[in-house]
Amino acid sequence: MTRRVYAGRIASKGIASGTLWRDADPQLVTARPATTVIAAVAATIRQLTALQRAAGKLGSDILQFQIEMLEDDAFVADLLQSAAAKDARRAIETVMNGQIQHFLKSDAETFAARALDLTDLRDRLLANFAGGRPRERTAGIPEAAILVAEDLTPSRFLELDWSKVKAVAAQAGSAASHVALLARAQSVPMLVGVGKIDPLTTGRSALLDAVSGRLIVDPEPAEVSALASGVDGIVVTDDEALGGALLPGGEPVEVHLSVNALTALDQAPREWFDGIGLVRTELLLRGPEDMLDETYQAESYRRLFAWAGDRPVTIRLFDAGGDKPIPGFSLAGEANPFLGTRGARILARRQDVLETQYAAILAAAAGRSARILIPMLSLPREMVYFRETLQKVALERGLDASQASLGMMVETPSAALEVDKFGADFFSVGTNDLIQYTLAASRDGNALDFGDDVPAAVLELIARVVEHGEQNGADVSLCGDAATSPVQLKQILECGIRSIAVPGKFAPRVKHLIRHGE
Ligand code: PEP
Ligand code: MG
Repeated sequence: MTRRVYAGRIASKGIASGTLWRDADPQLVTARPATTVIAAVAATIRQLTALQRAAGKLGSDILQFQIEMLEDDAFVADLLQSAAAKDARRAIETVMNGQIQHFLKSDAETFAARALDLTDLRDRLLANFAGGRPRERTAGIPEAAILVAEDLTPSRFLELDWSKVKAVAAQAGSAASHVALLARAQSVPMLVGVGKIDPLTTGRSALLDAVSGRLIVDPEPAEVSALASGVDGIVVTDDEALGGALLPGGEPVEVHLSVNALTALDQAPREWFDGIGLVRTELLLRGPEDMLDETYQAESYRRLFAWAGDRPVTIRLFDAGGDKPIPGFSLAGEANPFLGTRGARILARRQDVLETQYAAILAAAAGRSARILIPMLSLPREMVYFRETLQKVALERGLDASQASLGMMVETPSAALEVDKFGADFFSVGTNDLIQYTLAASRDGNALDFGDDVPAAVLELIARVVEHGEQNGADVSLCGDAATSPVQLKQILECGIRSIAVPGKFAPRVKHLIRHGE
């Protein structure tokens, strides 16, 4: 076969090479059929609960939506009533399709994307009713598979063996879907909207480049070795991550680790990093109840300090809401969750949660200094509550609040424009949100095409924060995805950023880019 290129939208950044593989049809495998709608519902709840146990916090929350639907008396009554009037299979289809249509009609992409969760639930219910049985976790998956799917469902995502599947190419799909969220959390490269991929390509070698948005079937060997080991053709070795990252003029740039899961601590050598620059603590939770579990949190945070030794550790307070809803904690039913009660705004209503997290961080630091980062601040007066609560917790525990410095994420234009008014000890620029809030364009990149660059307005805001830091001796770093894109990294360095946080595997590339400029 000859080389073919399919273009897609990036749902989760990264690059992987492997063999194209298509998943088996779930309904081909026949087992004992459920005899009633109720039995199909019960079997589905059992399967989803089992999957939940193995899934991380995010996956478990996503499945909870499906389980709650099946546990809803009104929904089940609707199913039963419909099954009494026609056959049970048609009843499941009709009721579920009605729900799916309801979500699909929504203009908001996030709501429309939830329709996929319901399709997932419908298909599992139907498979259970017909005697289908969930596909196996590993059966038939080649080593280093690039999964081709029409649109992968959340429960299937959570079933798959990710030691074998390296990337996903969805023919349809949305970067705002739950599966895209899961892929980003697990650093699985994913493209959506790739269009129909020729079925004859199954089993062929392929390169999924979710940096430039291409799936290349039968790539040239040189393309594989260049792209699979670097970004945009930049070939790097792991050795590049060792030693300080100096700009061509000799000025050092600190490279810190960003942590989405504690497993990140084992996935890259600690010698690569100057410290821990971002911990998305909301992703370390097993469930919302952990938000009030000081012991569990302190144990997690202790691992960060142990890993870092005498290097700085920056821990971000729970950033729930928006793209990271936490059922039972973030507010449900807001018309626009990204502009709603998220990050610091939720913590301002939940002093019990904030106090618990502060206490856990101070306990884990055990006398060392902790850098605590507040997400999504937009008004200077919001800072007062966070500082006072930290002092209160420290006093109650007989600890010294001066062991913690209190910094803020700069994720909104107002935070950047009023940077001098917050009185924060340090600043971390979150380009993922800062870009979306400055351009009023969703962070999944589908709403507005601004090319590869950090938009000029955002660069101005970053430069303003850097200048404030220089004039006031406050540390400024950057922890958004811009630090991992070759073009954007160059631009933020030109703005004066001298400290970044990146996921572990990006360290060789970013250090190479810092040293060589390309
Ligand atoms: C950001 O907004 O750039 C950021 C680092 O925070 P998150 O991606 O967790 O919203
Ligand atoms: Mg953010």
